[in-house]
Amino acid sequence: MASITLNNLVKKYGDGFPAVNDISIDIADGEFIILVGPSGCGKSTLLRMIVGLEDITDGDLLIDGERVNDKAPRDRNLAMVFQNYALYPHLTVYENIAFPLRLAKGKHSEDQVNKLVTEAAATLELTDHLQRKPANLSGGQRQRVAMGRAIVRQADAFLFDEPLSNLDAKLRGQMRSEISQMQRRLGVTSVYVTHDQTEAMTLGDRVAVLKKGELQQIASPRELYEQPVNLFVAGFIGSPSMNFLPATLDGNTLRTALGDLEIPAAKAEKAAGKKVVLVGLRPEFFEDAQLVEDHKRANGTVFTATLTHTEWLGNEQYGYIDFDPAPEVRGLLDNLAREMDADELRPQIVVTLDAASRIRGGREAELWLDTRKLHLFDAESGENLT
Ligand code: ATP
Repeated sequence: MASITLNNLVKKYGDGFPAVNDISIDIADGEFIILVGPSGCGKSTLLRMIVGLEDITDGDLLIDGERVNDKAPRDRNLAMVFQNYALYPHLTVYENIAFPLRLAKGKHSEDQVNKLVTEAAATLELTDHLQRKPANLSGGQRQRVAMGRAIVRQADAFLFDEPLSNLDAKLRGQMRSEISQMQRRLGVTSVYVTHDQTEAMTLGDRVAVLKKGELQQIASPRELYEQPVNLFVAGFIGSPSMNFLPATLDGNTLRTALGDLEIPAAKAEKAAGKKVVLVGLRPEFFEDAQLVEDHKRANGTVFTATLTHTEWLGNEQYGYIDFDPAPEVRGLLDNLAREMDADELRPQIVVTLDAASRIRGGREAELWLDTRKLHLFDAESGENLT
């Protein structure tokens, strides 16, 4: 096992825009780090730089404190865990796991190979399947075989590049938990690339959010959710996504297209001096006012809105509110779209409602909003002020 240190790493392809721009991350021994971000943010490039498949344009890469920029991939002792189809279909599970040992010709006696494969299979609960072919295994078992290959190499770290992206949702969920359990059991340093925020939130000790080659925030999943540093991270983490509502700030009152919202003085103070802000409201900060327990009511504010429609999902409902921003804050939505890398943003708020809520589209309804939780973002820089 090993620590991996990224010091101001830069990758330029040709003389264009850097695919990775000045990224520094300290990955501790045994830590599980996720690199997440939209397509093209540079996450695969960063992983390939770590494993040695891409040259490093600038900066230093250290493994256990040793600079490895110029070391060939095979000398870095890191194992890439590929998607399950990287298994050899004509080989048994045993031979698939033994494969990297046989590649390193002459290094291992047959007894050693047998010992390493048997141990890895025991760890991965594959002992009973060693003579099977990959076609006769479940998706989860195949994933474990792929990890077995990394284990027998006694690699210092595992690197995963979107290993679950080609699977259907159900299998993806199963494999996610297999990988998570296995990583914790083995305690091996792991770096995992994905664009799927559920994978990011459930697998990682820490998650690094990237945008256009730059590191936006690296933090635990909970911290990313509760304290996103800027609009981009706030919008990227969470499902359904955080809503952003343009507002003017007047003392402790936010004037918005949903009406005036009184907010806690401590929040307003953090944004003091800003005339306009973007208010960050997660769908789950809302509730049907009729269903809010009395002790919670005082933590928020009640307002009236007409929902366009609701969607019933069994365990909860989503409600949709279209809003019409005041002329002085309309431009904020364009800034926001730019920040989020979107062409256009619909002025709409999504709220989650209890499954028991009787609120329906087309009629006025009373909603409760937990104002203690809302975020205020600088409309220009996108920085979270609260
Ligand atoms: P995806 O999720 O789509 O795989 P990503 O976040 O992994 O995206 P990268 O594949 O790392 O992103 O690409 C980052 C940027 O570098 C993109 O703009 C991409 O077009 C560019 N890029 C990647 N590989 C090369 C290459 N070999 N030559 C030139 N540009 C490249």
